[in-house]
Amino acid sequence: MSEDCIFCQIVNKKIPAFRIYEDERSLAIADINPVTEGHVLVLPKNHAATLMELTPGDIAAVHQASQKVAQALMKSLKPGGIAVLQLNGAAAGQVVMHYHIHLIPRNPPKDNIKFLNWEIKPGDMKAIEKTAAKIKEAF
Ligand SMILES: [Zn+2]
Repeated sequence: MSEDCIFCQIVNKKIPAFRIYEDERSLAIADINPVTEGHVLVLPKNHAATLMELTPGDIAAVHQASQKVAQALMKSLKPGGIAVLQLNGAAAGQVVMHYHIHLIPRNPPKDNIKFLNWEIKPGDMKAIEKTAAKIKEAF
């Protein structure tokens, strides 16, 4: 637990939230700045800022909880689909530095979420190969 972390305070019920699902290791809450109706955040109860710090057990727990919440979203709200978004670090757009998965029910073209509608265009194969090799060397 991190004292100044808003999600840790929600986990510990020091700050109220619309709690949707909860198990031993995970908590799902309604996003109070919803991108679409039914936007839910799923987080581990243990504090970890990003994917890079999350324990394997919490990764499994949070993704299993996300699946349950996604099934409930499909059943209750019947969206066309659900986007799963997870941001790591301020540069990536992460606002609360406690790992969380966004479940965003979608009904395009009605919701017209521009950042989820990127253009698919072929990349430079040489550059892709070079970058892939660079990443592989880091293991
Ligand atoms: Zn936290």
